[in-house]
Amino acid sequence: MSTVPKPLGLLAELTHRCPLACPYCSNPLDLERRSAELDLATWARVFEEAAALGVLHVHLSGGEPGARADLEEITAAAARAGLYTNLITSGIGLDAARFARLAEVGLDHVQLSIQDADESEADRFAGMSGAHRRKRKAARAAVAAGLPLTINAVIHRGNADRVPAMVAEAVAMGARRIEVAHAQYYGWALANRAALLPTLAQVEAVRAAVEHLRAEFLGRLVIDYVAPDYFGSRPKPCMNGWGRQSLNVDPTGRALPCHAAATIPGLTFWSVRDRPLAEIWERSPAFEAFRGTGWMREPCASCPRASVDFGGCRCQAFALTGDARNTDPVCALSPLHGVVAEARTEAAAPAEAAAPAEAAAPFRYRRHRQAAPA
Ligand code: SF4
Ligand code: SF4
Repeated sequence: MSTVPKPLGLLAELTHRCPLACPYCSNPLDLERRSAELDLATWARVFEEAAALGVLHVHLSGGEPGARADLEEITAAAARAGLYTNLITSGIGLDAARFARLAEVGLDHVQLSIQDADESEADRFAGMSGAHRRKRKAARAAVAAGLPLTINAVIHRGNADRVPAMVAEAVAMGARRIEVAHAQYYGWALANRAALLPTLAQVEAVRAAVEHLRAEFLGRLVIDYVAPDYFGSRPKPCMNGWGRQSLNVDPTGRALPCHAAATIPGLTFWSVRDRPLAEIWERSPAFEAFRGTGWMREPCASCPRASVDFGGCRCQAFALTGDARNTDPVCALSPLHGVVAEARTEAAAPAEAAAPAEAAAPFRYRRHRQAAPA
């Protein structure tokens, strides 16, 4: 009998297409194009296989999943498989009719992202004029369709001072929950880290604001808080352990242990186009690579937290130290912790020396790479 644990969650990245261009997007720098996307029939099979494997909930994500004209059919297929369905959306491209149809086919929950509570700043970050007003409309439409709504607010240097306004915005939108989540520095956020990483003073102010707001909105709004990796002394248990509780399927069908896993060189990812999900989960080289604790080096190998935080994030270890087998340098016990301390020092320096507007470095917006001229 297999000793591999069963996954509970599936992140289905339906597309990398998105009308917005957030500089902290967690999608890879090399975005997949529409022509490479899995079709409806394959997604329907993947959902059936996921449910048979033990998966309970699926996050329908992207990019912007609403960019797929067959989102309603994909959602219906996930619901038919018996999965709890959560739609992760920017709200752009989903109107009242589409939300009503999604509710009708069995969508269980909507998670809608906002960039800020200040309209012009939100639009500047999203890279689209009028985006925030369209999000307000989408939020109202989701609630009117009877769908429970969570707002996701990604926190960075440019909006950290407006957390109370974002919470008020979530209430006005009709949300039951808000996730106040510091940006995680992978993908586009890592490329833009110099412009996004908040100062320690901002991080502490956000934490205090969340505590205060939780008391103020008790019984009306649940406020979740995701702390920033770079300001802790121990890492988070990334994905609750590699290949342990959840998996991602990217728009082309590659099954990944986490959304950034493809950034680690040398891993072989099997595709749902070629193999059943159970075989991929249990036997694929990429899932086996960092499952459990056997792969660990010191200081993780002999650390009492090895099966608590699993050595942190493999993708972050690779991105910051050049080797995915290293301890996540967010951990103060890592011999390479200095790279994180340096980033924190850099984040503090310009903000102390200049006014916030002057301190803001230009962003690299998330865009598809232009095709090379023929
Ligand atoms: S983070 Fe922004 S750019 Fe990335 S998928 Fe979400 S809305 Fe689109
Ligand atoms: S040494 Fe490794 S296992 Fe121990 S706390 Fe740090 S990252 Fe976690």
